[in-house]
Amino acid sequence: MASQHQADYDVIAVGAGFAGLGLIHHMREAGLSIQVFDKASDIGGTWAWNHYPGAASDSECYYYCLTFSKEILQEWKWSVRYPGWEENLRYMHFVADKCDLWPHIQLNTEITSADFQEDRGLWLVKTGAGEEFTCKYFVSAMGMISEPVIPKFKGMENFKGTCFHSARWPEGLDYAGKRIGIIGAGSTTVQMLPVTAETAESVTVFQRTANFIMPAVQKPMTPEWDKEIKENYDDIIAKCRNHVFGMAFDSPVGRTIADTSPEEVQKVLEEHWPRGSFRFVFETFDDLLGDPESNKVAGDFVIKKMKERVNDPEIAEMLTPKGYPFFAKRPPLDHNYFEAYNRDNVKLVDINEREPIVELTETGVRTTENEYDFDIIVLATGFQAYTGAQEALPIRGRNGLLLRDKWDTVSSSIMGVFVAEFPNLFMITGPQAPFANLPTSIEQNITYIVDCVKKMESEGHDLCEPLQKAEDDWVQHVAEVHAQTLMAQGDKVHSWMMGANIEDRAPRVLIYFGGANVYYDLMRTSVDAGFPEVEFENLAS
Ligand code: NAP
Repeated sequence: MASQHQADYDVIAVGAGFAGLGLIHHMREAGLSIQVFDKASDIGGTWAWNHYPGAASDSECYYYCLTFSKEILQEWKWSVRYPGWEENLRYMHFVADKCDLWPHIQLNTEITSADFQEDRGLWLVKTGAGEEFTCKYFVSAMGMISEPVIPKFKGMENFKGTCFHSARWPEGLDYAGKRIGIIGAGSTTVQMLPVTAETAESVTVFQRTANFIMPAVQKPMTPEWDKEIKENYDDIIAKCRNHVFGMAFDSPVGRTIADTSPEEVQKVLEEHWPRGSFRFVFETFDDLLGDPESNKVAGDFVIKKMKERVNDPEIAEMLTPKGYPFFAKRPPLDHNYFEAYNRDNVKLVDINEREPIVELTETGVRTTENEYDFDIIVLATGFQAYTGAQEALPIRGRNGLLLRDKWDTVSSSIMGVFVAEFPNLFMITGPQAPFANLPTSIEQNITYIVDCVKKMESEGHDLCEPLQKAEDDWVQHVAEVHAQTLMAQGDKVHSWMMGANIEDRAPRVLIYFGGANVYYDLMRTSVDAGFPEVEFENLAS
């Protein structure tokens, strides 16, 4: 497409994960020029960074993928239900090769700023190497959970061993025979502990909050299962599109705990438990996330199952989540996590009540009660979800307004895609989008954004100006929905899903919980109505 604005590219995007790869395909199909930059040395996004032992997807492989190419869906073969990071990376390379995406990707390139230039209606994007590029449309494809949170422990600089965030696992690090301390007990640790414990001399987990943890139930991809999946891809894609969390699940099921006898409830929960995945939440009863009493029944069941697997009752008690409802924090899926605590070389330390961390020392971690010596300390302390990546890079909209400053107290957006005062900026799964199977949401966001850009180009507009009123309405709607959810219950919901893990910032409403399917419908309604959330404008000539 000829650029009437003398921009280097029609579209510049940051991030070469699922979002960046999908965007290249769709923008190219629409006839636009696009360049994607990523500071990583490989494509893959999450999978370019998260190389800790045990890192794997928690969505099942056959719907944790891009669906725009029927050929790729048929040709690619997964080896297991939940592929590890290496296999996810191989898949993403396969997509990039097959669709010839590489010419549009520049790796090892950190974008250091993006400024909207009011006079030209273009974005000026600068790289760490001093390069400058302009584009008409600037897209954040930086990922929802990508900016690590590094806690500020006293004495961190004193530790003489190796210390790093879990998403920066050093390539080739040999941890066999080493003493490992892991700070944090979220999804990352749940995956990392059983694998590291197999060869490390010891692994000590410092836990602040216990989680509700469900079984993943890994299994190989058999030829029969592969065939069944490939024969049913249209159904699978439709299921994801119409599911509340964007997953290929059979729900709602038309059954509630409230209307079922306690014996039957236990029978259904027992039947579904060994199937693994988040299906337990979505394919058992429909009121599990909405009715506090039903939620407690399911939560108690999860705790009972966990206790059956941990030999030491004291450790089992420490691993028992308390004070918040099931699913108010994102439940990790486990691959023998609890069994790891039955090993002699694994220790659990309660840093919430019993012995908070005082400092890191030259040799390890000092709590109020003990000193622990380590060779390696892993900060499995999570991410600044939804906003972290966009805030880490100065993005300036109208009148030089920094996105980071705009989001100081409220991380506002229109459907997680547009931000008022930031014309021609699009986010793929930005704040106040749903939390769902990411490839599903990413593809839905991409088609929405591309539809908007196509309208702009076909009608000859220069600017897509998100309306403040539409943003105010979305912020209010998202807050109202949030107030009715489990997040707003219990006094100990300390979740990254509300930004509660960011020390110097107040928690906030980060996620639209009205249902991913409802959200995808809202985007289609917006397209059909000609994008009433934005104003299309032309620059004065
Ligand atoms: P997380 O769930 O946020 O867990 C971080 C852990 O670190 C929590 O136990 C947290 O305790 C603790 N922590 C944070 N700051 C601390 C501090 N200053 N002192 C002591 N403890 C501290 O992070 P994550 O495990 O990396 O997972 C984040 C999300 O990424 C997941 O929920 C998931 O959506 C995604 N993820 C996905 C996969 C997958 O799909 N396979 C794997 C890993 C991660 P509190 O709970 O008390 O805050």
